[in-house]
Amino acid sequence: MRQPFMAGNWKMHLDREAISAFCSALRRDAGGAGAVRLGVFPPFVYLAEVVAALRGTGVVVGAQTCRPESHGAFTGEVAARQVRDVGATHVIVGHSERRQLFGETDRDVRARLDSALACGLDVLLCVGETLPEREAGRTAEVVLRQLQAGTDGLDGETLARRVTLAYEPVWAIGTGRTATPGQAQEVHALLRDDVARRFGGAVAGRLVIQYGGSVKPANVAALMACPDVDGALVGGASLEYESFASLLDYGN
Ligand code: PEP
Repeated sequence: MRQPFMAGNWKMHLDREAISAFCSALRRDAGGAGAVRLGVFPPFVYLAEVVAALRGTGVVVGAQTCRPESHGAFTGEVAARQVRDVGATHVIVGHSERRQLFGETDRDVRARLDSALACGLDVLLCVGETLPEREAGRTAEVVLRQLQAGTDGLDGETLARRVTLAYEPVWAIGTGRTATPGQAQEVHALLRDDVARRFGGAVAGRLVIQYGGSVKPANVAALMACPDVDGALVGGASLEYESFASLLDYGN
């Protein structure tokens, strides 16, 4: 049985006051989240504060990226080791904004994933095709390439327990255009089948696969009803506590 995982990626939004109010509300309600795992991914500068504010709630706190090197002259960057040092437990790697705006390749994503795992951080690995790739019928090729580059050679137990996969079609991120449940399920099943082929059915059956791309309270239930959709990675709808909290009502 896979535990559903709802995660909010705050990107470069919110400020100290808004984050403090969000965390107070989350702290108040986190006990009611029940079977669903919750996570928030604040900007680096707020990470330690959010870790402190949510300590003991069970809410996952993670960074939005990390640098793979452990030390060095990388002005402005933050190492996975430092993310772990302030008490965060997770990091997102391979988000399409990192791939597109900052030129991160599959190799770069893998280096971040490896360093995060080595430092004791669990990982959310994002994969997803652009609109031209989808329209050219290349979705499977692109997402499987990204998945395999990110996971080949990992130990199956590590993959099942410490990696969450996020299928995020680039054309659905921040656009208001969500994949239909059918489109999401088709790609999630493809990803899980590939993991089953390479790591075995038991690992694939445990792997949590989130969908991301304009998830909001109005569409979360239909997406969560798909057998291979185990949660969501949410941008815009995670910025206000009420909308993030109502994503948990998908079963009602
Ligand atoms: C994201 O950035 O991962 C994301 C899914 O954003 P949004 O929910 O705003 O589309």
